[in-house]
Amino acid sequence: MPELPEVETIRRDLEKLVLGKILRGVRVKKSKMVQGDKLSFQRQLRRQAVKGLHRRGKLLMWELGKGEKFLLVHLKMTGQLILDDGKGVVAGGHSWPAVSRMPGKHTHLIFSFQDGTKIYFNDQRQFGYARVVSRTEKEQIVSRYGVEPLERGFTRQKLKEILAGRKTLLKNILLNQKLIAGLGNIYVDEACFMAGIYPGREAGSLNDDEIARLWRSIRRVLRQAIKYRGTTFNDYRDANGQRGDFLRRLQVYGRAGQLCQKCQVDTLKKTRMGQRGTVYCPKCQV
Ligand SMILES: [Zn+2]
Repeated sequence: MPELPEVETIRRDLEKLVLGKILRGVRVKKSKMVQGDKLSFQRQLRRQAVKGLHRRGKLLMWELGKGEKFLLVHLKMTGQLILDDGKGVVAGGHSWPAVSRMPGKHTHLIFSFQDGTKIYFNDQRQFGYARVVSRTEKEQIVSRYGVEPLERGFTRQKLKEILAGRKTLLKNILLNQKLIAGLGNIYVDEACFMAGIYPGREAGSLNDDEIARLWRSIRRVLRQAIKYRGTTFNDYRDANGQRGDFLRRLQVYGRAGQLCQKCQVDTLKKTRMGQRGTVYCPKCQV
């Protein structure tokens, strides 16, 4: 699933290319991908200029017109956005299936701009969605999201308050978008490993030192992942020859059964926590 670093990467890439461009319209191949009335969705996007491209958690928000309307796009499990402006292709989101000819069999929405640029919204499992909302509705929606882990509001004290008194597993608290926005399975496992904390602990049981380590680790792993353009598209190169390169830097996610690179003693174990596969080192994480 695309998490904060993957969504932020595609946001930055697309922003450079679509700011100021004017939408001609959108073709809806699968109505299910649109929340609300399909015809109204199409009508509201027609001849709209892109004023800004923002992110909250894993949600992409296209600011349109004079800023009174927003196109919200959530990639969920397997969503991808692929831009083709005739000069090159920029892709982001989920990594599989890899980008080939567009539109493909998983292309459900096609946004067309007046200059000929197209953005394809692909989604194999079709959990993602797009919708158009007013500024007020957008504010209501984002107010339900928790703190942004890379912004100023996410302090050690804030993390302490989030964890305080909670009997729930640490893993589940960190995955809860209403508490911290943007973390998913990959980066929660990586951050807990970096901090040396077992994600199956009761969230409220962490002491101040552990909270400080976890706080630093969450920010560090997200910053690094953004720097390396996320964990996706490792076999895909964009127009600038760049690729999502964090996959090779993952320490635990997807590495169950391998030797822990930190202690070089124990083997990484995989277990299930709150319906999610979780990889950790029994020696390094307590
Ligand atoms: Zn270890």
